[in-house]
Amino acid sequence: LAQAMPDSRDHEQPAALVFVDLDGFKHVNDSHGHQAGDELLRIMADRIVEASGGKALVARLGGDEFVILVEELGLSVALASQRMERLANRLLAALAEPCWISDRRHLLSGSIGITFLGAGAGDAEECLQQAEMAMYQSKQAGRNTWRFFDPAMQAVAVRRALFESELRQAEQRDELALHYQIQVDRSARVTGVEALLRWHHPEYGTVPPYDFIPIAEQSYLIVSIGDWVLQTACAQLAEWQTNPHLAGLSMAVNISPLQFQQPEFVYRLEKIIVATGANPERLKLELTENLFMEEPDAVRETMRRIRILGVKFALDDFGTGYSSLGYLNRLPLDQLKIDQSFVRPLFEDGANEVICASIIDLGRNLGLEVIAEGVETQAHRDWLERQGCHAYQGYLFGRPVPLEALEENLRG
Ligand code: C2E
Ligand code: CA
Ligand code: CA
Ligand code: CA
Repeated sequence: LAQAMPDSRDHEQPAALVFVDLDGFKHVNDSHGHQAGDELLRIMADRIVEASGGKALVARLGGDEFVILVEELGLSVALASQRMERLANRLLAALAEPCWISDRRHLLSGSIGITFLGAGAGDAEECLQQAEMAMYQSKQAGRNTWRFFDPAMQAVAVRRALFESELRQAEQRDELALHYQIQVDRSARVTGVEALLRWHHPEYGTVPPYDFIPIAEQSYLIVSIGDWVLQTACAQLAEWQTNPHLAGLSMAVNISPLQFQQPEFVYRLEKIIVATGANPERLKLELTENLFMEEPDAVRETMRRIRILGVKFALDDFGTGYSSLGYLNRLPLDQLKIDQSFVRPLFEDGANEVICASIIDLGRNLGLEVIAEGVETQAHRDWLERQGCHAYQGYLFGRPVPLEALEENLRG
């Protein structure tokens, strides 16, 4: 491909590189076997060649990825992009045709990225990356579509890569910290805290978790960061156990699905508990519903093993996921946590009251403690109490604060 690609610098007519990735191929390959997969790839390759119309060079990159090199697109850029749009639409239509393999009907589609080669464009390797980046935009836009590469996209990708490498170093540079937010029971007694991660960046200041946790998840960094959080939270818990003012506190720790699904997660957790001397009965892992979407049975089994250690479980952000309620009573849960998106605007929309009341009922009927997060006013708290809510967390009682502030507040 690199050899076939024209040198962009002395290229007169624009040429374009098209990156095609099949959507849904992996599913067919996994569930109907490699033979069906190979057959499907052959059919799709033929369709791509045909739709590209004779003159273009089509190559398979491997897996279900193809590239098409289209040259001599004419002298005007406007015309060239029109031609590429038409080609992309032809490709999409061809790929979306149903495919019959041994009497089974398969439906795939394609995600397409396009970049132009010409003055100012990079070398073959760079152009391929640009086309691939554009293809990912198509995937994110919901698949079965095409996108042109755009330099602004490139800039975002570069900034993001920088951010990611800084996040990678955050732990060694001692930029991570835990803040703690108190949780109270119906009589306003502090029963525990939730540990919330903070990243203090030397230039950007404190980066909110909503800005870096998604990136940590996409780059798998969340596994080591999450390990640091657990380690730090457990060490803190162990320290509190020896302090008469703080001995009864529980510690809630957020666990990302990726972290929980690591094969060695239980082993790591157990090791941290033993090494720090934390009382596992006071440790509560907050899991979110999306953890149960893929392999609910495996997740339940892991929970069961952790439960044996004495550790508790809360289902976080409850009500925001799409999961069925059927699995709830089969999980070893201790607590349901009503998401703040229902609690904060509680009285603004009648639906929120219905949702909160239903979750509280559901929890009580299943024998689970129900905690509401995002409780900001006394009126909210009182309403929730009347519905039977057991516990509360929110700005009304306290914001997340650094360790020193927490200890000072709790000392009275
Ligand atoms: P979350 O688990 O739902 O945590 C509750 C968030 O709501 C916290 O935001 C907290 O500061 C905020 N909050 C609590 N009470 C109130 C209130 O009354 N009003 C308002 N407006 N906000 C309130 P924060 O600390 O920014 O954390 C955001 C999210 O980041 C967390 O949502 C959690 O999903 C994630 N996160 C935080 N720390 C960790 C961590 O150590 N590991 C993982 N995997 N995720 C974490
Ligand atoms: Ca694919
Ligand atoms: Ca949480
Ligand atoms: Ca939440």
